[in-house]
Amino acid sequence: MNQRELFLRHVGQTSPAPLALEIVKAEGSVLWDAAGKSYIDLIGGISVASTGHRHPKVLRAIREQLDAYLHIMVYGEFVETPQVQYASLLASHLPPALNSVFFTNSGAEAVEGAMKLAKRSTFRSKIIACENSYHGSTQGALSIIGSEYWRNAYRPLLPGILHLPYNSQQLIDAIDETTACVMLETVQAEAGIIAPEKRWLEAVRKKCTDTGTLLILDEIQTGFGRTGRLWGFEHFNIVPDILLLGKALGGGMPLGAFVADQKLMLNLADNPVLGHISTFGGHPVCCAAGAAAFKVLLEDELYKAVPEKEQLFLSRLKHPAIRAVRSFGLLIAVAFNSFETNKKIIDRVIEKGALTDWFLFESNCLRICPPLTISESEIEAACSIILDAASF
Ligand code: PLP
Repeated sequence: MNQRELFLRHVGQTSPAPLALEIVKAEGSVLWDAAGKSYIDLIGGISVASTGHRHPKVLRAIREQLDAYLHIMVYGEFVETPQVQYASLLASHLPPALNSVFFTNSGAEAVEGAMKLAKRSTFRSKIIACENSYHGSTQGALSIIGSEYWRNAYRPLLPGILHLPYNSQQLIDAIDETTACVMLETVQAEAGIIAPEKRWLEAVRKKCTDTGTLLILDEIQTGFGRTGRLWGFEHFNIVPDILLLGKALGGGMPLGAFVADQKLMLNLADNPVLGHISTFGGHPVCCAAGAAAFKVLLEDELYKAVPEKEQLFLSRLKHPAIRAVRSFGLLIAVAFNSFETNKKIIDRVIEKGALTDWFLFESNCLRICPPLTISESEIEAACSIILDAASF
């Protein structure tokens, strides 16, 4: 059996039709398959590879940590320098109220931790989330994602969850003194890039404050410069009570985090103690890699070039088959008239040497969320491939 056949036989599958590309190398914004064919990466591991694949400074930080120690103790017991330094660095680039970083292994685990923190801190159980939101695949995170299709087979779900439309007055009206938290994506990614109205988000923030409800912003896709600012919420003049991070947080290694004020976070440490624990959360190698990637993002100010790169994509993506292009920084959705058309175009794009896919809740949209380091010439080449693929 070849690698592909072994993959299909022995690796747990997530769909009947995986891309099943056998990638043997990745560098910057390019991936190479086993046959030596190159692909411009327009997926970035789903918003992970923001500083590009295998950035030399990230690789160096990983090697240095390998020489010191790997896992030594469960999360939260030892003073592990990579965690301490990364948490301090993150806190110094966040508003003062977001000063305590609880590291997890994944985005979904950060979501779980944040929901628990909200319940534990408010002694309330009602959670408000949005239709077409995606927050992860564990049982709790799955319970708050905004799609019956993905939730239904896994009932019973967590109780007390209300799903309401993003950008709706209905959602604001539903926030009351029994609500533990409102969980929102700062920009809805898997819905096909839906931005919040500024006034709406401000009103959500105000109603949360007025009712003692915690506002949780999921920036697992929108954080780390992807929207053109370091954090997506900076566009909207609000600060969440709890911020969720993941994906680019680890610089290509698995890492998630929820961030809050220390006064709030300490609720997980007492009555009961060990309110949220994990063996591998905040793994030292992942924290070293993540901190190195974050420093690259800051030193090279990668987020500052995002609006220009976004505009270059938008200026090139003009074609009669394209129905609309929605974007928020380097989160871009290109809409075609149906899933069938989109799928055909995606297959042709991949064949012609660029990597893309569709969105979980918007299957007629082609995804563009490349490394922030993607060059102008790579953008030009990728757009030519998409336009060519759309012409049939
Ligand atoms: N939240 C958002 C907005 C996401 O896009 C994702 C993953 O795609 C998650 C949460 C879950 O993160 P993970 O897959 O690391 O569990």
